[in-house]
Amino acid sequence: MGDLNSEWQAELARAYNSAESLAAALQLPQSWVTSHHSARKLFPIRVPRPFAELIEAGNPDDPLLLQVAPHAHEHAQRDGFSTDPLGEADATATSGVLHKYGSRVLVILRGGCAVNCRYCFRRHFPYDEHKFGQAECEQALNYIQLHPEINEVILSGGDPLMAKDRQLETILTAFAALPQIRRIRIHTRLPVVIPQRLTTELKTLLMGVGVPVIMVLHINHARELGQRLADTLSQWNNVGITWLNQSVLLKGVNDSAETLCELSERLFEVGILPYYLHQLDRVQGAAHFAVEDAQAILIMQEVTARLPGFLVPKFVREIHGEASKTPINLQR
Ligand code: SF4
Repeated sequence: MGDLNSEWQAELARAYNSAESLAAALQLPQSWVTSHHSARKLFPIRVPRPFAELIEAGNPDDPLLLQVAPHAHEHAQRDGFSTDPLGEADATATSGVLHKYGSRVLVILRGGCAVNCRYCFRRHFPYDEHKFGQAECEQALNYIQLHPEINEVILSGGDPLMAKDRQLETILTAFAALPQIRRIRIHTRLPVVIPQRLTTELKTLLMGVGVPVIMVLHINHARELGQRLADTLSQWNNVGITWLNQSVLLKGVNDSAETLCELSERLFEVGILPYYLHQLDRVQGAAHFAVEDAQAILIMQEVTARLPGFLVPKFVREIHGEASKTPINLQR
């Protein structure tokens, strides 16, 4: 039998990793490369081809491109933007485990992602110090058992679906076997940028974990939900997995009520419910994506007026040290 993971791993291996190769694929001029390529030193470029195919060729302002392409603005130092905006270095309880919220524990299974989103709040996170092998898994299991208030494990990242199925199965079943664990959540963007990651084998694996599994995708714009991902998701209907989405409010990408409404409608069409819209975490290098609160509130007031309640994501901000995400008051 061949390697069941080979197609998505082949896509990972051939992802664009330079401004030059991205520009060539998307018919962007050399002046675009010259203006922006130095930002790759701040955060490497990684754009899988299935995602690049969704980007409009020749358009340097395409909302999908802006999320993944290096930009000269990343060099700007802005007050209030830091390398660890959520204080995660302090919250690391044991290797690969972040215990920020009482009943939930975040496990960083894999350091890398299939795509490097330029606004990522973990763009400076020292992933190399957070390897997750057998020893770390045992430490995490011990930690959870010592904290009976934990009833949910969230696999985050990096992207947990970067792990091979065998490792995922071992870890998921180990967590699910703890009597205190009621559900497991997987935060992933990988299926959005490489839909081939949603293999039949992965579906079978997740259906057999033993506790309910919630998949939380990360999609910021309706065009990220291409036909291939939509077709794949239709094969995952009715298998008992809950699908949610979280987005980040990003200037130039989705900072209008119309764009956000379209996103919610498209998510619903393919069986995903909007969960969170995050106000940008103030990470150094991403200030050009920030939408000021006053503007954001106006946008969300309009979204709330236009959509049924179940399609309106909770608009939140994460504040270092708070016991949960903080809802942003829309009634100002
Ligand atoms: S997929 Fe998520 S964790 Fe990875 S770079 Fe993008 S925003 Fe960051």
